[in-house]
Amino acid sequence: MPELPEVEVTRIGLAERLRGARVRTVHLGAPLRWPLGVTARTLHDMEIGELSRRGKYIWMPLAGRTRNGGLLWHLGMSGSLMLHERAPPPRGRHDHFELVSSAGTLRLTDPRRFGAVLWSDAIDADPARKLLAGLGAEPFDPGLTAQALHAGLKRRRSAIKAALLAGDVVVGAGNIYACEALFRAGIDPRTRCHRLSPARCERLLGALREVLSQALALGGSTLRDFRDTHGSAGEFQANAKVYGREGQACLQCGTAVRRVVQAQRSTFFCPHCQTR
Ligand SMILES: [Zn+2]
Repeated sequence: MPELPEVEVTRIGLAERLRGARVRTVHLGAPLRWPLGVTARTLHDMEIGELSRRGKYIWMPLAGRTRNGGLLWHLGMSGSLMLHERAPPPRGRHDHFELVSSAGTLRLTDPRRFGAVLWSDAIDADPARKLLAGLGAEPFDPGLTAQALHAGLKRRRSAIKAALLAGDVVVGAGNIYACEALFRAGIDPRTRCHRLSPARCERLLGALREVLSQALALGGSTLRDFRDTHGSAGEFQANAKVYGREGQACLQCGTAVRRVVQAQRSTFFCPHCQTR
């Protein structure tokens, strides 16, 4: 599943190449998670602005002669975006949205079709506003302090791992990153949120930023040629300290790494290094 670092690397790679380009045509394939919301014709000749990201959504502002707005993109479970600057290969069976612009052909390939591309008159107008409203803080937002994280978690009784995955306090901690951040912070993933001290919240925030920075750096290197938008999670996983290592020795203490299921997802942790 594309996680925040992959989405951010995708955004960075696309932003500079698409800025100022004009939409020529749009081809719609099989239905995605939500309908586009306008006819494909509406987008013709609109100018692409600066791409931004919120959680795992990419916002593409579009300016037209009579109308402004933008497209909100989500890669869902299996989506990837590729910009073909030269003549693209024929559309494949999983290419369900194509935006042909003066800068190249941007394709959304999404075998499971949980991804989406939808029109919104503005990022703070519906439907974008509604979709982004429930998202927690951005992990690298300087406004997200350890105190703010502590305050957000104090109101929750769920296990910290489940809260991280839910993304409504802080976004970006997909399964692998949540497991790794909790390991680095020395926190048992089953610990109830409201029991975490401010000092532990501070360690957790630092650890989350560390693992996401590492994934971003790896993604930047694997995505340079834009062949694989899921590269960073794969690369990151190869260096994981607990994720996917059930039964293997903890790299810090040698205790066997344990796996439990939380919120229908596998959690990996060291029962010695991570405490409640
Ligand atoms: Zn250990």
